[in-house]
Amino acid sequence: MTGRTTDVAIVGGGLVGAWTAFFLARRGQRVTVLEKGVVGAQSSGVNFGNLRLQGCFPGQYPLSLRSQALWEEFEALTGEDCEFEQSGHLYLAYDAEEHARLESYAEVSESCGLAIERLEPADLRRRWPWLGQQAVAATFSARDATANPRLATPAVMRAAARHGASVRENTRVVDIGRSGDGFTLVLANGETLSCGALVNSAGAWALGIAERFGETAPLFPAGPPQFVTEPFPYLIAPSIQAIDGSVIFRQIPRGNVILAGYPRTAADPQANRAPVPPAKTLAAMRALARVAPVLAQCHVIRVWSGIEAYLPDMIPVIGPSQTTAGLFHAFCFCGHGFQIGPGVGACLSEMILDGGTQTPLAPFGIGRFRSETQVSEKFRKEFD
Ligand SMILES: Cc1cc2nc3c(=O)[nH]c(=O)nc-3n(C[C@H](O)[C@H](O)[C@H](O)COP(=O)(O)OP(=O)(O)OC[C@H]3O[C@@H](n4cnc5c(N)ncnc54)[C@H](O)[C@@H]3O)c2cc1C
Repeated sequence: MTGRTTDVAIVGGGLVGAWTAFFLARRGQRVTVLEKGVVGAQSSGVNFGNLRLQGCFPGQYPLSLRSQALWEEFEALTGEDCEFEQSGHLYLAYDAEEHARLESYAEVSESCGLAIERLEPADLRRRWPWLGQQAVAATFSARDATANPRLATPAVMRAAARHGASVRENTRVVDIGRSGDGFTLVLANGETLSCGALVNSAGAWALGIAERFGETAPLFPAGPPQFVTEPFPYLIAPSIQAIDGSVIFRQIPRGNVILAGYPRTAADPQANRAPVPPAKTLAAMRALARVAPVLAQCHVIRVWSGIEAYLPDMIPVIGPSQTTAGLFHAFCFCGHGFQIGPGVGACLSEMILDGGTQTPLAPFGIGRFRSETQVSEKFRKEFD
């Protein structure tokens, strides 16, 4: 026990902050989570809810598989249900080039221990007769899953609090300074708080904290447009995705179809805005109708997005600061943070308490951005 307010301060009460608090508090650390708004109200609460393993960046598989095991144990760990459904993920290819990409994803997935089923058009017609007839090939991963983002983060944070974590909502951190081998945080109400270790899990707002300690990353805030249709008779169990990224969709048992359409749209973290231009609704519904003509007449009843942080290499920053002992970063999840959130929290807790983690995280270090990173034209186009 020290004279410090808390052992570990966590800036950001999204899914990553919540799981980090959970694992630290469970091991007896004094943890304080500081959230400028409400727990799980940003990316972590508004996302599509996909826990996809197919098609991951190869270096992310150990973390993704560790995370999926934690999702599979969600109820036992937190004592709550988050509508976790292991109904699988189907990737569809529409031409030879996409088929080749599908096959290369499948080979990577299999080499990392994931079981992938390869499907031909006849298999698709037999198993999902309502799919359009144009797909030339598909792969299916049964371990992929979905969960309800509205339920997940608050449930994890309540479990962290039951283990003793202090969770402070509507509490914005406005400044952070070094104090001995720890940190002093200044809150918007003028209060100060001291800690030994600091976790930067502030989502699309995390860069300011990294820069405060002489580090950077070419963070680009954007939102993937999301849509939900009126209820339709329940018939779609897996998540289904066209491999060109034009559409991904799933149906919840209440009947509504949730879909996401690309490209993403630039978002504004300062104004807290992630707009969805109207043309994107029409484009997403056209893409949906190609994959599942049975849904062509469905009406969209709500449109939304959220503020997610992206990097040009489309993988996150996870790990210790390169400049400041005791500071740990976990941000820029590039659209994958819901799936890997549990594993990230577990790894951060091990870095803080054990000095390292067995899960390989080398590709994710913030040090990879020490030199100026060029943002390619192809990357920019993903955010039209
Ligand atoms: C529309 C959409 C769809 C997505 N779909 C998927 C999907 O299907 N599957 C998937 O795996 N991922 C998906 N993602 C990505 C995923 O939601 C995120 O990667 C993940 O939720 C990030 O969690 P986080 O805790 O890092 O960030 P956040 O949830 O953004 O949490 C960060 C928190 O930090 C707080 N904060 C920031 N600055 C301060 C400060 N100074 N003081 C106090 N608090 C602060 C914020 O208020 C925020 O609550 C999607 C994202 C979006 C936006």
